[in-house]
Amino acid sequence: MAIGAHLLNSGWPFAFTFGMDGLWFAGPMRPRGEEKRIAVIGAGISGLAALKCSLEARNWTACFERSDNVGGLWNFTEHAVDGRASIYRSVFTNACKEMMCYPDLPMPDKYPNFMHNTLFSEYLTLYAKVYDLLRHIRFKTTVISIQKSSDFLETGKWDVVTEYYGKQKSSTFDAVLVCTGHHVYPNLPLQSFPGIDKFKGEYMHNRDYKEPLSYAGKRVLIVGLGNTGADIAAELSRTAEKVWLSTRSGSWVMSRVWDNGYPWDMVYLTRYQSFLNKILPRAISDWLYENMMEKRFSHKNYGLVPLNKSSRKEPVFNDELATCITCGTVVIKPNVKEFTESSAVFDDGSVMENVDVVIFATGYSYAYPFMDDSIVKNSKNKVSLYKGVFPPKLEKPTLAVIGLVQSLGGIPSTTDVQARWAVAVIQGICKLPPTETMVKELEEEENAKENWFGRSETLSTDYVSYMDELCSFIGSKPNLLYLFLTDPKLAWQVFFGPCSPYQFRLKGPGEWLGARDAILNQWDRTIRASRFRVVHSDTESSFPPTVVKLLFIPLLLLAIFLAWP
Ligand code: FAD
Ligand code: NAP
Repeated sequence: MAIGAHLLNSGWPFAFTFGMDGLWFAGPMRPRGEEKRIAVIGAGISGLAALKCSLEARNWTACFERSDNVGGLWNFTEHAVDGRASIYRSVFTNACKEMMCYPDLPMPDKYPNFMHNTLFSEYLTLYAKVYDLLRHIRFKTTVISIQKSSDFLETGKWDVVTEYYGKQKSSTFDAVLVCTGHHVYPNLPLQSFPGIDKFKGEYMHNRDYKEPLSYAGKRVLIVGLGNTGADIAAELSRTAEKVWLSTRSGSWVMSRVWDNGYPWDMVYLTRYQSFLNKILPRAISDWLYENMMEKRFSHKNYGLVPLNKSSRKEPVFNDELATCITCGTVVIKPNVKEFTESSAVFDDGSVMENVDVVIFATGYSYAYPFMDDSIVKNSKNKVSLYKGVFPPKLEKPTLAVIGLVQSLGGIPSTTDVQARWAVAVIQGICKLPPTETMVKELEEEENAKENWFGRSETLSTDYVSYMDELCSFIGSKPNLLYLFLTDPKLAWQVFFGPCSPYQFRLKGPGEWLGARDAILNQWDRTIRASRFRVVHSDTESSFPPTVVKLLFIPLLLLAIFLAWP
């Protein structure tokens, strides 16, 4: 973003990075906004990021969390708890440790590349401890309502009512950061399945699925091929008598383990790749994408092929599903046309007889029961928020939602950048455009998103572009040209290497001094997380071979890129 444009956005003369790195480093030039009293609702990934960013910007901040611990969704419970996300016992992260961390705290060395929920939850607690967040969190305290104060039009303040062991209390805050997650309210589209009311077996949403033992010997139908449906199907295939997985529109199914065994996101989520997506004609980029997805197996032959092949709808990350299909332990079927008392009839006329259990792995809807619907409208799961964060029609920009939009990148870094921007707006360091401009931009972006991600993925966004855009608002977007001139080794990793979270706290306000080292050592940490048997004749290389193979093309593109305004 040009300096002028940034100045317009920030409203503060020093909130830009061009050539100013030394000054940011020294600290005094860091923009300092008005101190505010801020409420954060929820202490999951988003809430911890919001709390930390708000405190970092020297605001008095209270975080309200209805449970007794941090980590939100990542805390497994034996039974689903009302108002909270609920996961099954075997959930692993589908982003690797270098991409799923906060930008200012790499994961401990002993962690594997992809983490079980217990380990990731441990990391979230570590983050809260390292940044001394726990004493700002009021556990067992539920936010019952938030309402505009009587003087909202002048002050933008909110009245927040909380409940602690049945006792309610009202307090006034200058601003509220809503971090309550969006995998709480199940989407159970029973109206789409005629006959389900006559079905005599058991049916449920996956929210109530916890582990495979109780399904041993049963005939199970899973509806929905998202990450949840695929995980549950693969898991049940070992104990259930029969597992059928029904999908109405298919999905690309990818492995967590990519070229030469590196985590998929270390190889694929790069600025270079994002740059190619931007400059290549859509037809070529679609062709490359499809080829990449088809590398391991033909989705057509496995009955998985997505109806809209070119859509960048979130892929399913599953290393076992293809094996289950090829071994016959999971059978892929089209959409369910109807249920009878004991069977499911599919669109192709085939029938699964004697179904014991139907698990609807049909995703989630989001809701904010503690505030007026008109503030954040959920119309068909579309996001009515400017840049996925601010309600554009609110008279004062003092309420922000953190963690609602999602991208292929890990959530912690996205929420960190969203929170830094939100806090900067609340403190008056950055300014939002006029309402009409925001509404217009929002509509345009929604249409573009539908075209790119498909209709069912309205909460999705492109990771690198989205992060860069928000970072440009707060003066933290990595300046590639400057980096190439001053620190080419780092610049190379920033452009061709994984677009890891550390990049977004490399320079500018919120700079983390460990970011450079974290970027330069990310491949070594990745290898260390799996190589426990060292063979000394190995040729040591921490560079991914795919990048080496493509060296010539990137150099050429780089030249174009650098010359690009
Ligand atoms: P949550 O984790 O849901 O936290 C919300 C918190 O708010 C909770 O602690 C809740 O108790 C609290 N709360 C809610 N309402 C109130 C209230 N009224 N008052 C007080 N407190 C309240 N994303 C990835 O990036 N990588 C992954 O590998 C990944 N895996 C996933 C696996 C599953 C099975 C699911 C369902 C999602 C996964 N996601 C993944 C996406 C996931 O949403 C994020 O990882 C992340 O957990 C979202 O964090 P959050 O803080 O926004 O919400
Ligand atoms: P999801 O991604 O929203 O997938 C829901 C599936 O249900 C889709 O395949 C959808 O089909 C289908 N569906 C919805 N309504 C339907 C209807 N009326 N009829 C037929 N099919 C219908 O939900 P999810 O799999 O629970 O995942 C939610 C989030 O959690 C995702 O971000 C995911 O990445 C994450 N997650 C991660 C892991 C992990 O390994 N870390 C595990 C589980 C979940 P269409 O595609 O046709 O819309």
